[in-house]
Amino acid sequence: MGLGERLAEVDARIADAARAAGRDPGALTRIVVTKFHAAPVVDELYRLGVRDVGENRQQELTEKKREVGDREGLRWHFIGQAQTNKARAIRAAASVVHSVDRARLADALDAAGEGMPRLDVLLQVNLTDDPGRGGTAPDAIEELAAHAAGCTTLRVRGVMAVAPLGEPPAPAFERLAACSATVRTVVPDAAWISAGMTADFAEAISAGATHLRIGSAITGPRPVRG
Ligand SMILES: *Cc1c(COP(=O)(O)O)cnc(C)c1O
Repeated sequence: MGLGERLAEVDARIADAARAAGRDPGALTRIVVTKFHAAPVVDELYRLGVRDVGENRQQELTEKKREVGDREGLRWHFIGQAQTNKARAIRAAASVVHSVDRARLADALDAAGEGMPRLDVLLQVNLTDDPGRGGTAPDAIEELAAHAAGCTTLRVRGVMAVAPLGEPPAPAFERLAACSATVRTVVPDAAWISAGMTADFAEAISAGATHLRIGSAITGPRPVRG
């Protein structure tokens, strides 16, 4: 199966899951995660109509975006752990940052944005018990939302999470939906929920995800890093 067929198949599965959940498939944003794949994959996806791509490392994002060049309407989503000293480079390349998980990172992105259009950001929630994982603890999400809402060059759009391993995804995504409701008490229109990957996007859709981050089901197995 080629890229186009895999994309069409995933989109059909997304539409099925949306209908099963009583949701409008047209209201979902499917982000194709292109990490580890070279720039020509992005070119091919663009020709297939893809306008949202995701990368999880700043350097790879910056280089790939430069190689791909200007493409009207193409949005680069940064979905990985971000170091504050990379904030400027991330901000220069990304349309959306999904992984704001601490006040210091919000501040660094904010400071890097002087004179720029507001940056869409999502607050990442850690749904595991392991504090070493990315994301803020669910009980700290309200405080982070209030902090990020005060960053004048950022626009808080909602929440993001990765389902924990070794646990069914559905209850974890329900916890994320609760965090989304908490964030909306601070920023009422922050309705985006970024959740769902190759293995669990149907569960994410039934729990209310608005932005799906799907890699290997579309791009095929990731090439081994040399
Ligand atoms: C790699 C990655 C994805 C996509 O994962 P697949 O299982 O290949 O669909 C989604 N979200 C994040 C944060 C990732 O790092």
